[in-house]
Amino acid sequence: MKNHYTAVVVGGGPAGSAAAHTLAKSGVEVCVVDRFRFPRQKLCGGLLTQRAKKNYAAIFGPGWEEMYDYRCNGAKFFDGERLVNSIYNYGELYLCDRYRFDARLIDKARQRGAELVQGERVTAVDLRHRVCKLQSGKEITCRYLIGADGVNSVVANAIHNGKTSRNGKAFALEATLPAAALSRKIAEPEIYFDSIEWGYGWIFPRNDVVVVGVGGLFSKNRDFRASFNTFYRNRFGSEFAGVVKGHFVPFGEYSRGMGRDGVLLAGDAAGLVDPITGEGIAYAMQSGWLAAQSVLEALSGKSKYVNAEYRKRCAEITGELAYAAKIRNFLFSPATRALFITALARSASAPRRYMELMSGELTYRELLKNSGRKLLRLAADKITGT
Ligand SMILES: Cc1cc2nc3c(=O)[nH]c(=O)nc-3n(C[C@H](O)[C@H](O)[C@H](O)COP(=O)(O)OP(=O)(O)OC[C@H]3O[C@@H](n4cnc5c(N)ncnc54)[C@H](O)[C@@H]3O)c2cc1C
Repeated sequence: MKNHYTAVVVGGGPAGSAAAHTLAKSGVEVCVVDRFRFPRQKLCGGLLTQRAKKNYAAIFGPGWEEMYDYRCNGAKFFDGERLVNSIYNYGELYLCDRYRFDARLIDKARQRGAELVQGERVTAVDLRHRVCKLQSGKEITCRYLIGADGVNSVVANAIHNGKTSRNGKAFALEATLPAAALSRKIAEPEIYFDSIEWGYGWIFPRNDVVVVGVGGLFSKNRDFRASFNTFYRNRFGSEFAGVVKGHFVPFGEYSRGMGRDGVLLAGDAAGLVDPITGEGIAYAMQSGWLAAQSVLEALSGKSKYVNAEYRKRCAEITGELAYAAKIRNFLFSPATRALFITALARSASAPRRYMELMSGELTYRELLKNSGRKLLRLAADKITGT
């Protein structure tokens, strides 16, 4: 490790790997610092959409087939025990183990020439002079700093002067279980809308294991462990006895500035997770890539204002997340949730729309425009009892 690099990336998850790969590919001297050694565990459902596949191909090129462990082409949507709707033959969804997925991504960045410093936590950041202070006492300076250090980002914390609140985030609990130990076979992702306030429960298959989780807005839930236990008992008819782990997830509150002073936030550090579906991997890769492109443009002299350029490039993502946050109020609010379930149950096209949203073929903006009138009609029917 040297004392100075053109770019330093804090965090080697999907956002950091995408940024480092893009910079190293263009010959920029870049160093990634991660607090863990790869491969490392990352709590995650591991669901990869067509959006993730497209972003991966644009950034890393070929090799998608090695990135996931299981694929299927449908999903089921439940309200309690009731199967509300389902979709088959949609197009593929992929499920990965983040232990392998993230290790492969960071390896690709390394192969391109990025330096990786592993097992070193960044403890503090001097934004003005772009200095990263490491747990070992060492310091690294850089011209551009990319904060890709996840939901509890040290870099974002420095940018927001420690004023980040947990209330706008979701908290999720998850367990990975041997598929053979469960009372039934899970072949495609199952989403349960009744299992937690302002969130949902999920059961995701992955060859010989199944991932079971619940996640919801932190401020709207009191006892996540009780929600998880009830969810598990109701789905599998027995008490949960294994290991369950928890983690925060950004859920609607993204960083408005996306960084400042040559420091750029990407992925969860910038809050880029869909506040309805919880999808974050695709946006992490995309924003890491966009951050690197903004740095490349600044280095080439084409742009003087790296942060303004980055904000502009991310507007497509942040605009969508802002629409999703509005729609979420309808989907998750106790006052209108029943309407949403009715709409989902009645509509032949709703599951397809959900999948299209996840693949990026439909935007939340288009959804709001197309469905607004239908939902108003449904609301009127409910009120008049027709
Ligand atoms: C329970 C759960 C289920 C989820 N399910 C899905 C899903 O099915 N599909 C989906 O698309 N998204 C899912 N998400 C969201 C997804 O996991 C994140 O959006 C995604 O991991 C963000 O990638 P990232 O690179 O920004 O951050 P991360 O993947 O969190 O990577 C951050 C990296 O930074 C490192 N780091 C952190 N702090 C420091 C520090 N101080 N110094 C040095 N290194 C540091 C960490 O070790 C880590 O390697 C889920 C999240 C949770 C919690």
